[in-house]
Amino acid sequence: MTEKFIPLTDLRQQLSQLKIPPRLIEPDGFLSDTLARPLHDLRISVTDRCNFRCVYCMPKEVFDKDYQYLPHTSLLSFEEITRIARIFIAHGVKKIRLTGGEPLLRKNIEKLVEMLASLRTADGNPPDLTLTTNGSLLTKKAQSLKDAGLNRVTVSLDSLDDVIFKRMNDVDFSVAQVLDGIDAAQAAGLGPIKINMVVKAGVNDHEVAAMARYFKDTPHILRFIEYMDVGASNGWKLDEVIPSAQIVQRIQDAGMPLKAMTANYVGETAERWQHLGSQSEIGVISSVTHAFCHDCSRARLSTEGKLYTCLFATHGHDLRALLRDPAKHSDLAIANVVASIWQSRSDRYSELRSQQTATDQEQRKKIEMSYIGG
Ligand code: SF4
Repeated sequence: MTEKFIPLTDLRQQLSQLKIPPRLIEPDGFLSDTLARPLHDLRISVTDRCNFRCVYCMPKEVFDKDYQYLPHTSLLSFEEITRIARIFIAHGVKKIRLTGGEPLLRKNIEKLVEMLASLRTADGNPPDLTLTTNGSLLTKKAQSLKDAGLNRVTVSLDSLDDVIFKRMNDVDFSVAQVLDGIDAAQAAGLGPIKINMVVKAGVNDHEVAAMARYFKDTPHILRFIEYMDVGASNGWKLDEVIPSAQIVQRIQDAGMPLKAMTANYVGETAERWQHLGSQSEIGVISSVTHAFCHDCSRARLSTEGKLYTCLFATHGHDLRALLRDPAKHSDLAIANVVASIWQSRSDRYSELRSQQTATDQEQRKKIEMSYIGG
């Protein structure tokens, strides 16, 4: 039976871990961890709820009708999220991605987008503001999100086959509805849209070529993601992973020759490929077979304000406790706490994964992706 893991908060323990340093230093727009990795990206989970029950993320047997989601008072308010984002931007963050759960389920999400879009990086620009969604609410919300200041969206779509897609999302949501959402996002100017497909052996891997063909010659960037051992409830096994090299080969074998492209920037998670004779691009994210921890510049903020320095982290740093502390810490004080967390960061879970035994894996209490954001 799948082990049920519900993240619990022990504020006393977490708060005692976060100390305001005695000497406060103004952020200078650059932070580096123990492996010389800068802090560039902040992923913010705005809700732990989702209207899908994808088997690899929020399987129905765990996230059932009795599952206890976080109460509203536990969630960071929009003001708290914006305050934390401002502090991270002062440390050099340029890109902010809203995630969940399904972020479009958070009430008035457009208001948060507007607040984040009003922030400015050191060079006077708004942060690059993006959002990852299952696409189910995009037809309704794409234009208002764009108007609020969102730059782009990434849409998760694991299959073009309605039967398989419905089996994967487990809530009878059709492919056509997601494709309509993608069209709405494109029409609203939220492109280039990235389409993320998590490839799981024996479930949807036979659709790799069909997906590549479908999105070839569209302005969208299709990205194939190796199935990962995120969270504790998806029962991940290594033999369910289709290596990215094989994905590229399958697309070429299906008569779609590809050529490698250079990365847009250091730390880009996807390896880029272009269809020959076309401007169309695909990406492969080799989270398992070619881990990219050495360039990982991403911090994650959970729905209730815990800072995680790795997707596979087993515990977070409770920034919410600092924000809500009656001592009313200044932004500078919190910025110094964030600096000390990042400066002591040494995470490289994916690079070490292959060296771990099955028992190591089982003993790590990983945080669910719906809680920490993907
Ligand atoms: S495993 Fe952790 S450190 Fe490595 S790339 Fe993923 S989030 Fe970054």
